[in-house]
Amino acid sequence: MQFKDVIGQSHLKSELTELMRENRLAHAMLLLGKEGAGGLPLALAFAQYIVCEKANSVPKDPGPSLFGDDLPEVQPEVLADACGVCPSCQRAAELAHPDIHFSYPVVTKKPVLRR
Ligand SMILES: [Zn+2]
Repeated sequence: MQFKDVIGQSHLKSELTELMRENRLAHAMLLLGKEGAGGLPLALAFAQYIVCEKANSVPKDPGPSLFGDDLPEVQPEVLADACGVCPSCQRAAELAHPDIHFSYPVVTKKPVLRR
C-alpha cells in the first residue's frame, strides 16, 4: 500500500515523509486513531515507504573532481511516496517483507497454564 492509496490524511503523510527527509525516524512509532480513521492503511503505507529502495536511495558520491573543482554536496533523494515496483515494495505489499512485523492483541478466555 502506498500513500496515494490512503484517503485523506495529507498532513500526516507529509509529516511522515518529512521525518524521513530529515533522517529523524524514531526506533518505534505508535499510530493511534479511531476505528475507521485509516490508521492501519497509513501505517502499512508508511512501513512500505520506509523499506522502499527507490524512495530512500542515496545517490552515489561521484568522488573528487578530476580537476580539483569543488563538487556540490550529494543530497539523498527522498521521494514523497514508495515506488510500488521495487522488490521491497512488492514484499511489503504482500505483507511478506522480513523487516515489517505485525503484532496483534490476543485475548484468551482461559488462563494460560505455565509449566
Ligand atoms: Zn519501492
